[in-house]
Amino acid sequence: MSRQSITNQFLYIHKQIHNPKHITIPIILSTMSPITTCNVAVIGAGAAGLAAGRHLRREGHSVTIFEKESQVGGIWVYTNTTEPDPLGLDPTRPVIHSSLYSSLRTNLPRETMGYREYPFVVRKTGQRDPRRFPGHEEVLEYLKEYANEFGIGELIRFGTEVSRVWRRECGKWEVRFRKRSESDEYVEEDFDAVVVCNGHYTEPRIAYIPGVDRWPGKQIHSHNYRVPEPFQNKIVVLIGSSASAVDISREIASVANEVHLASWSNTDEESATLPGYDNIWLRPMIESANEDGTISFPHGFKISADIILHCTGYKYHFPFLDTQGIVTVDDNRVGPLYKHVFPPSLAPWLSFVGLPWKVAPFPQMELQSEWIAGILSGRISLPSENEMMKDVEAFYESLQASGVPKRYTHNMTGYQVK
Ligand SMILES: Cc1cc2nc3c(=O)[nH]c(=O)nc-3n(C[C@H](O)[C@H](O)[C@H](O)COP(=O)(O)OP(=O)(O)OC[C@H]3O[C@@H](n4cnc5c(N)ncnc54)[C@H](O)[C@@H]3O)c2cc1C
Repeated sequence: MSRQSITNQFLYIHKQIHNPKHITIPIILSTMSPITTCNVAVIGAGAAGLAAGRHLRREGHSVTIFEKESQVGGIWVYTNTTEPDPLGLDPTRPVIHSSLYSSLRTNLPRETMGYREYPFVVRKTGQRDPRRFPGHEEVLEYLKEYANEFGIGELIRFGTEVSRVWRRECGKWEVRFRKRSESDEYVEEDFDAVVVCNGHYTEPRIAYIPGVDRWPGKQIHSHNYRVPEPFQNKIVVLIGSSASAVDISREIASVANEVHLASWSNTDEESATLPGYDNIWLRPMIESANEDGTISFPHGFKISADIILHCTGYKYHFPFLDTQGIVTVDDNRVGPLYKHVFPPSLAPWLSFVGLPWKVAPFPQMELQSEWIAGILSGRISLPSENEMMKDVEAFYESLQASGVPKRYTHNMTGYQVK
């Protein structure tokens, strides 16, 4: 058994106190129940995996973080490179993890974006970005600093891609991985628990457009959008209405002839331009794409277009996870999961950090990680499997009763901040 039970009545553990100086002091746990330490695998060293690594180790667990890339930061590691399939649909394509565009600035202010334990403050040294909504480079620097501050780097196996995670009969989780730089040789290692932190902004979802297969124009998903230049003098139909659609439509409008912003949320019969822009048109959702190069909208309106740009979000995707059908992704609902973290029948040995969206992600990942770490050590307990399952079912029923589609299961608008 790699799990150790520590039952000392007077147990000294070193905990870092939440203060700016991170003073390490010994505290005495004299009345707590036995603490269990586990051997835990974390998949991914983005914002979620770093928080998981930090809090699992802080709780006394032994942690290995698997990261396929060569540095921490996940989605915040910007690259000019895009995928050969601009829609990102080909399952055999070489996958580029990041979906950032060059000009991207945070859409949350520093004050709400940073981890609670390690605020995202302005750094005055070197070439740093002091803005309240900084550019993506600053977020990457911040994540690197967080990793350094808490020595998380030493837990990470960089360049190591996990290809399969499954639970053996004995209850151990087997993680199969390979070093990307070396041969194709896969190696397996056992862990008591696995925390999945692989991100969910890499696998594009695209809009269904009748007739698009015969439409002669180009299509691209925002996952493969970096800079506006390729849209010079083009007529672009951009689908979507959330953050990326808002940013990218405005950026493209500076070089394109026309940008038509198509979305389900625009139901106006009369098309209008976006205030402040004379070449961004607000349109309802596309009705069809046609062989003659035109795009049809409701009420018989048509335009000729060169490019359709899908800013339509991403799919949860866990190609390495084999739970024998216990955890599934159904219309972008990852489930069943108790509070978006634990599959009841596999809890607490399998967990997910960072699934919710429309949240302040870093602080939430931190709280989720502390919760997982505390449950694995036995310091906090979960309800029974049956109670967790009932809670999940009640949650799904409440979504259905309010007409919320499955794909919004992990959307926390409206109830993150009360
Ligand atoms: C365009 C865009 C803008 C955003 N803007 C903001 C913002 O302004 N503010 C904000 O707070 N959030 C923003 N977000 C959300 C952002 O994604 C989260 O804040 C957060 O960074 C996600 O962290 P993560 O660790 O869950 O995933 P990721 O950052 O995606 O990290 C996942 C890591 O797992 C690794 N990995 C994946 N599969 C494997 C495998 N099989 N084996 C080994 N390693 C693997 C990846 O290489 C990666 O390093 C934005 C997202 C996007 C797409």
